[in-house]
Amino acid sequence: MRAAVIHAARDLRLDDVPEGELGPDEVRITFGAGGICGSDLSYYGKGRVGDFAVRRPMVLGHEVAGTVLETGRAVAGLAPGMRVAVDPSRPCLSCADCREGRGHLCRDMRFFGSAARDPHVQGAFSERFVARADQCVPVPDTVPMRVAATAEPLAVALHGIRRAGELLGRDVVVAGAGPIGLLLVMAARLAGAARITVTDLAEEPLRIAREIGAAETIRVGQEPDGLARYEADRGRFDVALEATGAPAALASLFRVVRPGGRVVQIGMMPPGDVPVPVNRLMAREIDFVGSFRFGAEFRTAVALLASGRIDVAPILSAEMPASDLPAAFALAADRTRAIKVHLRF
Ligand SMILES: [Zn+2]
Ligand SMILES: [Zn+2]
Repeated sequence: MRAAVIHAARDLRLDDVPEGELGPDEVRITFGAGGICGSDLSYYGKGRVGDFAVRRPMVLGHEVAGTVLETGRAVAGLAPGMRVAVDPSRPCLSCADCREGRGHLCRDMRFFGSAARDPHVQGAFSERFVARADQCVPVPDTVPMRVAATAEPLAVALHGIRRAGELLGRDVVVAGAGPIGLLLVMAARLAGAARITVTDLAEEPLRIAREIGAAETIRVGQEPDGLARYEADRGRFDVALEATGAPAALASLFRVVRPGGRVVQIGMMPPGDVPVPVNRLMAREIDFVGSFRFGAEFRTAVALLASGRIDVAPILSAEMPASDLPAAFALAADRTRAIKVHLRF
């Protein structure tokens, strides 16, 4: 079967790969749709994500949905023909983190399409793929495949919102209007945020941010006072959500969060240490918290998508056949033209 395999930076091929073995607690899934993520783009562009380099060929892809084709003999509750959103995380279920309810921080995590461990964990951009039954969440027939495939990035945003704490009536700033930033806007609105400001370098994603309910957008570097206008009076935002992964964006957030406010780090920063204005954090008692992937939020994400309470249509840019792999990745990387691009086989 065909799969999208990264060999090295700029070397992404549609290879012929063998079918995965099916374990007793696993299901084989026919690919429905798969979103190209920033990490897939990073493996493609740089051959690495943060500290994790591609050392051998790896199938990309972790934002996927599909149809159950075959079930292992110990699987209950799933049957051929069922449509499922697939949680790409596969925690060990036995380490201390797993046992204490932090499975998403599992020290033995197998996450689809990740070079964090060697041998790498193969991803799901392939005609068929195998997942453990507990990774699969059924979705109604009314939910298009690429909407179901958005459950993963939405879960990332929902986890970030959970780490932000109470948002009801709060004044929120989101740095970065990529897919995660825009999903954070949707999730923050759902959580009752009173007013949302979004910053980005590009105009097109900011236009979408306004369309989905941001009260204000700021184009960084284009507006002379930009976010800096809120530095007066010791900052105005209750909560800042960092979704750019850019050190300069993080620094700017510490200047505009009010005393007693909170900054949530959701974007992945470059490898190595990133400066944080610790004296400001200390003197204003700002909470600085991290948010990594997601846990139970995946099921919540599927429920929100299925009920229509979160409508991701504004961020779905295109769906392209895997035979157009280079064009699909080029489009996904062009922030002036696309937010989220999906592949199909
Ligand atoms: Zn992703
Ligand atoms: Zn574990």
